[in-house]
Amino acid sequence: MTRVTDDNERNAKWPGGQRWEPLVALALWMALVGNVPLWAAVLQRMEGGGWRPWLVTAAWMGALAAVNLAVLALLAVGPLRRPLGLVLLALVAVPSYFMLAYGIVIDSSMVANVFNTDAREAADLVTPALLVVAVLGVALPGWLWWRLPVAPAPWRRALGQRGGMAMGALALAALLLWLTFQDLAALMRTDRTLRYMINPYNSLYATLRHGLGRHALAAGPVQPLDDQVPVLPAHAREDDAPLLVLVVGETARAANVSLGGYARDTTPRLAALQRAGELVYFADTTSCGTNTQTSVPCMFAPDGRQRYDPARAQENLLDVVQRAGLAVTWLDNQSGCKGVCARVPTLATDRLQVPGLCSGDECHDEVLLRELPGTLQTLDAQRRRVGTLAVLHMMGSHGPAYHKRTPAAFKRFEPECTSAQLQTCPREHIVNAYDNTIAYTDHVLGELVAWLAQRHGPAALLYVSDHGESLGEGGLYLHGMPYALAPREQTHVPMALWLNGTMRQRLQLDMACLQRRAAEPASHDHLFHTVAGLLGVRTRVYDAERDLLRTCRRG
Ligand SMILES: [Zn+2]
Repeated sequence: MTRVTDDNERNAKWPGGQRWEPLVALALWMALVGNVPLWAAVLQRMEGGGWRPWLVTAAWMGALAAVNLAVLALLAVGPLRRPLGLVLLALVAVPSYFMLAYGIVIDSSMVANVFNTDAREAADLVTPALLVVAVLGVALPGWLWWRLPVAPAPWRRALGQRGGMAMGALALAALLLWLTFQDLAALMRTDRTLRYMINPYNSLYATLRHGLGRHALAAGPVQPLDDQVPVLPAHAREDDAPLLVLVVGETARAANVSLGGYARDTTPRLAALQRAGELVYFADTTSCGTNTQTSVPCMFAPDGRQRYDPARAQENLLDVVQRAGLAVTWLDNQSGCKGVCARVPTLATDRLQVPGLCSGDECHDEVLLRELPGTLQTLDAQRRRVGTLAVLHMMGSHGPAYHKRTPAAFKRFEPECTSAQLQTCPREHIVNAYDNTIAYTDHVLGELVAWLAQRHGPAALLYVSDHGESLGEGGLYLHGMPYALAPREQTHVPMALWLNGTMRQRLQLDMACLQRRAAEPASHDHLFHTVAGLLGVRTRVYDAERDLLRTCRRG
């Protein structure tokens, strides 16, 4: 009897089958514990000393808790209550961990990263610390939340009371923000990243934006870029036809490339090719995005970063080159081509089990060297006599487990950080592991050039990384910052072009001129037009202004 009375009393107090205290407790937990990175960043950036920054921060904590309470009052009802609580606990705990561990913020490009990551990338991020966060931040409070009794309640009265509660909470939040508006405006002027740190609304907002973008992407059919591309003539022998190997690097930043002035000798093989006058290094190259998902499709589009629209389903460089009659292929040692290679023959390395090169479902980048010659042989013979474009998508310097990207024989800089929890390693060890990936990439590129150099016909290798990486500068790690706020380390990428004598002759290329051009700014915007020009593909979307070789070709 007592229990029934108890429940009735509760229902009278708070229809919907629960007392109101758990809602307030969860709202406060989410606002305070679930936003430790936000409040630490706010206190760090607030100007002026004394008690005011603390008081203002406390007001914002109260405002966020009040907003949380309004959301819970309206949505944590009936069968929704239990799962909603768990989801919200996860949406404050997990992003908080990644913010603290890697200095990231949550925006739609970060959400795109999450949705496009594969199992092996995700596994690198699962650390003991993340498991502790999952237990203390989600499982434990989630268990308490789940155990709260649920009892039926008349919905009309429930709606009225919950609506009243939500209105009151929102009014309190508005009042607190109004009282501190000057401080809020000043803070937002100094650091716009803070809004990407408000858990859980950053994740919800970014997921919504990402979902809308994808929906638009899925809605329309792929638009042809140019369906009138003239088919180029075939050569009598395949060996006379041009071959371009386009290497899409991964997470390589220009700051750690010795060709670009880095103090450590991370690129000896490319440097030797440069000294021989066969290679130019574009020292001031800017990426289109700060993550693979944005950069890779943008690199292969003709639009350039300003005009590129990820929501528009459009053909790309590979389609145009293929339409010109050339053989095109994509070899992937990464998490996929992000739609770019949808209409050309592809080979993914994740099912290959090459002894010494692959372990689990990951292969070192030398696997691309091994697979390239055989893959080219499988392409259409008639097309190969017109020419070949082979794209190699590297594993490169993908973090945070940099040490996994290089074979034991290539550990030139030691000791390495071997933890995925980068912040637990001394910075030099992180940089050692990272520099080893750059040196290994240099080795792979050197070997590719050595193979291409045996060719009699025109051959070239173009290497460019998709985006850079932060290695602890300003407390930031990894990549994927919103572009406007991203540090230079994440957008300044290496780009190098090697051409054999036959190719230089075919293009009538003035290498001294090209060396000078390479010192000037370049970007992913140039890729489409430079490759089209180099292969002689005539398309109406070609823009000579963005062809890096154009002004250095005689005749
Ligand atoms: Zn990438």
